[in-house]
Amino acid sequence: MGTILIIEDEEKIARFIELELKYEGYEVEKAFNGRDGLELVKAHPFDLVLLDIMLPGLNGIEVLRRIRQFSDVPVILLTARDAVVDKVTGLDGGADDYITKPFAIEELLARIRAALRKKDGGNPLEASQVLSIGSLHLNTKKREVHVNQNLIHLTKREFDLLHYLLENKNIVISRETILEQIWGYDFSGETNAVDVYIRFLRSKVEEPFGLKIIYTVRGVGYVIKDE
Ligand code: CA
Repeated sequence: MGTILIIEDEEKIARFIELELKYEGYEVEKAFNGRDGLELVKAHPFDLVLLDIMLPGLNGIEVLRRIRQFSDVPVILLTARDAVVDKVTGLDGGADDYITKPFAIEELLARIRAALRKKDGGNPLEASQVLSIGSLHLNTKKREVHVNQNLIHLTKREFDLLHYLLENKNIVISRETILEQIWGYDFSGETNAVDVYIRFLRSKVEEPFGLKIIYTVRGVGYVIKDE
C-alpha cells in the first residue's frame, strides 16, 4: 500500500489520520513539527507526505520548499479554511494537492489514492530508473541510494561508480574499464584509485548493513552480484 508521513502539530488530528490510514492498510509515521518531519523525509523513502501548513517554527510551506530541494515525493498540504494564499503558494512550491480542514476522511483517502496513482503511473520511465540488488536500490533520476530504507550519502564519484557496476550486474569489470568510464580517458592517475573508491563504497553501502554485493576478482577487477 505504501508508507505515509504525517507532519502535523495537532497531535489529536495526526493520531486520527494515522488510525484511519492504518485501517486502510498504509504504514504511517508522524512528526509534530516541521524540522522533525524534514529529517524523516531525508532519512526514509516515503510514498507520500501529508503536510500541515500551520506548523510552529518551520512552517509547512518552508518544509515543502526544502523537501523539493532533494525529493519529489508526493506532498498533500493540509490547509486552514479559506487560506487561498496558502493554497497558491503551496501548489507553486511543488505540492501535488491540498485539502482544506476540516475534511471528511473519505475525501482525504481519495486524494491520497489519486496522488499515489499519479506517482506510480504518471511516468513509466521512472519505475525503470531504479536499479536494485538485494536491499540496495539506486534511483538514477533522483541520484539516490537506499539500503534497507536508509538513504546513503555518496559523493558524485562514488555514486557514478556504483551506478556503473549496477548497470553491469554480474559482469566482471576491469579496473582499466572502470577508470575509463568513471574518470574519463584522460585520467592520468593510477588504477588503484578504483580500489580506493571501492573501499569507500563498501564502507558506506555494505559494512553498516552486513551486505555483501561488491566482489573483488583477483588480478582483474570488480563485479557486483547478489549474495
Ligand atoms: Ca497546525
